[in-house]
Amino acid sequence: MAFEGLSTRLQNVFSKLRGKGKVSEDDVAQAMREVRLALLEADVNFKVVKDFIAKVKEKSVGKEVMDSFTPGMVIIDIVNKELTELMGGSQAKLAKANKPPTVIMMVGLQGAGKTTTSGKLAKLLQKQNHRPLLVAGDIYRPAAIKQLQILGEQINAPVFTMGDQTSPVEIAKQGLQHAKDNGNDYVIIDTAGRLHVDEELMEELRQIHANVKPDEVLLVVDSMTGQDAVNVAEHFNSSLELTGVVLTKLDGDTRGGAALSVKAVTGCPIKFATLGEKLDAMEPFHPERMASRILG
Ligand code: GDP
Repeated sequence: MAFEGLSTRLQNVFSKLRGKGKVSEDDVAQAMREVRLALLEADVNFKVVKDFIAKVKEKSVGKEVMDSFTPGMVIIDIVNKELTELMGGSQAKLAKANKPPTVIMMVGLQGAGKTTTSGKLAKLLQKQNHRPLLVAGDIYRPAAIKQLQILGEQINAPVFTMGDQTSPVEIAKQGLQHAKDNGNDYVIIDTAGRLHVDEELMEELRQIHANVKPDEVLLVVDSMTGQDAVNVAEHFNSSLELTGVVLTKLDGDTRGGAALSVKAVTGCPIKFATLGEKLDAMEPFHPERMASRILG
C-alpha cells in the first residue's frame, strides 16, 4: 500500500496521544519530534518538514487544546488538516478550455510513466463521455509511438501520429487541427522525455507550448524517486510553468516524500495519481483522503 512506512510510524506516535485525558507540553514536544523524524525518513523535503512542524506546534500548544476533553484527538486532527494543506488542501481539477478542444501537454522524464499516463488520462476522460485524441509527439524513443498506438487501440481512442521524421512542434500543431476537424474535445499530447533534464528538451517543449497554447501542462513524475521527483518538478516548473503534477507509481511508494513535498516546494498542485500498470489505475488526487489514509 502507498505510504505504508510513514503511515505506520505516524499511527504509532498518535496511538500514544490518543488515549490520554491530559496532554502536557512535553508530550506534544515528544510527539512532534517523532513526527519530524517520520517525515524525514519518508523523504519529505527538509524545509517542508520544518515549516510543517512549526505550524502544528503553534496550533497544538494553546490552552484551548490542552484543556479540551480529548487533547490527543485534537492534535491528531490538527496534523490531519496540516497534512491535507501540505498536499494542496482540496482536489485540483483539470482545466477546461472555454472553447473545445482542451489541450493537455504531458511532460516528464523518460520512464516516469508519461506515455501510459496519457492513455490512462484518455480513458478517464472517456468515462466522463469525452472524446480525447492522443497525439504521439515523442519521436525520439523508438517504441513510444507504437506504445501509444497500442494504448489507443486498447481503449478505443484515436491516436494522431506523423511518424518520427516530422518535428514534434509540427505534430502537435497538426494534431490539434485534427482534433478540431474531428470533434475531439480533448487533445492529449505525449511529448519526449530524456533521462535527465536538459535544455534542448526544454526548448522543444517551450516551442510546442508556444504553438498549441495548452490549457494544462501536466508533469508526470515517478513518486518512488522521492526528492528527485521534487527536484525534477522544480526544474520543469522554472522553464515551463506547469499547471499540475501527476504522481505515478504510488502503488509502489511506501515513503510518500514526493506527494508530501511537491506542492509546497513548487506551488504546483497534484492533479492525479496513478496506482498500477492497468489502464484504469488512475484517479484524481484528493489531499484530504490521502491525509486520512496516512493517519489511518
Ligand atoms: P515514459 O517513458 O515516461 O513514457 O514511461 P512509460 O509510460 O513507458 O512507463 C514506464 C514504466 O512504468 C512502464 O513499465 C509502466 O507500465 C510503468 N508504470 C507507469 N505508471 C505506473 C504506475 O502507476 N504503477 C506501476 N506499478 N507502474 C507504472
